[in-house]
Amino acid sequence: MRSAEPISQALARIAPSRTNGMTDRAIALRAAGRDIIALSVGEPDFATPDHVKAAAKAALDADDTRYTAVAGTQTLREAAALHFARDLGIVVPWQQVIVSAGGKQAIFHALVATLDAGDEVLIPSPWWVSYPEVVRFAGATVVDLPTTAAGGYRITPEHLAAAITPRTRWLLLNSPGNPTGATYSAADLAALGEVLRANPHVLVLSDDIYAPLRYTPGDHATLAVVCPDLAARVLTVSGVSKSHAMTGFRIGVAAGPAWLIGAMGKLQSHTSGNACSIAQAAAVAAFTGPQDFLIDWRERFRARRDRVVAAINAIPGLSTPLPDGAFYCMIDATPLMDRFGDDEALVLHLLDHGVAVVAASAFGGRNGFRISFAADDDKLDRAIARIAGALQ
Ligand code: GLU
Repeated sequence: MRSAEPISQALARIAPSRTNGMTDRAIALRAAGRDIIALSVGEPDFATPDHVKAAAKAALDADDTRYTAVAGTQTLREAAALHFARDLGIVVPWQQVIVSAGGKQAIFHALVATLDAGDEVLIPSPWWVSYPEVVRFAGATVVDLPTTAAGGYRITPEHLAAAITPRTRWLLLNSPGNPTGATYSAADLAALGEVLRANPHVLVLSDDIYAPLRYTPGDHATLAVVCPDLAARVLTVSGVSKSHAMTGFRIGVAAGPAWLIGAMGKLQSHTSGNACSIAQAAAVAAFTGPQDFLIDWRERFRARRDRVVAAINAIPGLSTPLPDGAFYCMIDATPLMDRFGDDEALVLHLLDHGVAVVAASAFGGRNGFRISFAADDDKLDRAIARIAGALQ
């Protein structure tokens, strides 16, 4: 007999997003009068650039308020193809680009469009919260590839080779990575490419949404460029959310083989249809307009990273490596686990002290928590003082 809440087996297999969940909780506590500093969600605190806002306003004034093609307007797909070529080195025709309501939707569509029960998906952990949940929703099996801080949170070719089976359908790569900042060099990717070359049944999803936010010298490296012979089975995901402070616009883009972009479009035609027409117009301005503000943003993120890492490492019981990219710190709190039991209890204790962060277990990690340092210095300083006070 079905229960009083007859949800599907697919939905019952997954948990709600714990990044979004903690942020919703912080918003609700604030609405109830509590003073909460939320470092739980990853979104730049900078204002969306003026030229992007102007494009959104102009689209509205021009009554650009109707359906567009499901995969996005041709103008935006061309602008996204320009972005893929200019910023990532991936040269694709615009027809092999799809526009979705956020990178999250593109990832959801790619996985749900290609996975069947029994398929395996390799995900290096700590991972972004939604990757394993989407795989489970699709009925496939998550294969955890655990990584360590000492290993730069990167998988090795040996690690990858040992995990691949005839049922492996996808490898998910995220560089720079959320929540660790792990960044793969061209040499790292070339070595992984050797293994993938020997396993032609494996597709690769390369989530490059944090590519503009790297703090190490050298160019961004991405699999489709490092191993062009593998590009026909690589889907690269990008967007404007992190690079242009446009999280609320919900625009993500993906470039890949025509069959896969078509399959994603088929599914999207039954989910959202097109992404918001006004947000699409704004994204055109983001991709084609000035990019120089990013130099300043990156420097400010770098300064915050350095400040936060030093302050966290000064708190007894906490330690965190210097992330190479993105705007998160994965903080180890193992010495505090005797006191708190698990990282969820620790996170709730911090929330009681006015700071919202996300437990490492949400990311397939353990004994710690993630903070986003995409907040201004004052907020970061106050949050860290609260964390230090809460753990005294
Ligand atoms: N990707 C961001 C994060 O990890 C936004 C929230 C989400 O979609 O998970 O915080």
